[in-house]
Amino acid sequence: MHFTRLRLNGFKSFVDPTDLVIHDGLTGVVGPNGCGKSNLLEALRWVMGENRPTAMRGDGMEDVIFAGAARRGARAYAEVSLSIDNGDRLAPAGFNDSDALDIARRITRDAGSAYRINGKEVRARDVQMLFADASTGAHSPALVRQGQISELINAKPRSRRRILEEAAGISGLYQRRHEAELKLNAAEANLTRVDDVIEQLT
Ligand code: ATP
Repeated sequence: MHFTRLRLNGFKSFVDPTDLVIHDGLTGVVGPNGCGKSNLLEALRWVMGENRPTAMRGDGMEDVIFAGAARRGARAYAEVSLSIDNGDRLAPAGFNDSDALDIARRITRDAGSAYRINGKEVRARDVQMLFADASTGAHSPALVRQGQISELINAKPRSRRRILEEAAGISGLYQRRHEAELKLNAAEANLTRVDDVIEQLT
């Protein structure tokens, strides 16, 4: 799965539409302190379904919307889209009939986030599963934050195991297992309820 372009619009310091074109090979982003290098990495996590405001260095998710500056008013929404080369056809069924994928997330004040894949509205879960199945995503160990290496060295074994599982590409399976367990519990509760009703009737 090769990311080819990240487009930001109203996301944090990127108030105007900005394209980061990602060519084959190594891409370096350089610039003075505070110019927005970390914001780019956060935009990448965010479009892949990050749902923890703290991972975006904010108190609420709306903090990712451009908050205004001396000569620019605040924006009402933020949007990030990620273009992916799907030449190897790794996208899940339903999204796998084109050579390129465009994943977009938009957040509007008081209206929350909406996601689209190739223009079609999807759930956050669809986007998260797409990236989990491709062994990447908002929590991918390939995205390293400032200070994360020292956190990793001091991490508890459970957290380290999660990182290994993500690297092995099985975190999507864990998510599906969790959802299956929830359905199973609900079915068992329904069965108990049916037993109660049968008992009352007999
Ligand atoms: P460093 O090299 O110091 O780590 P950096 O290049 O990674 O810096 P970032 O941390 O990505 O820079 O960007 C910080 C800038 O983004 C700050 O100037 C901050 O004011 C701005 N910023 C963050 N959130 C918003 C927002 N919602 N609206 C406007 N500007 C924002």
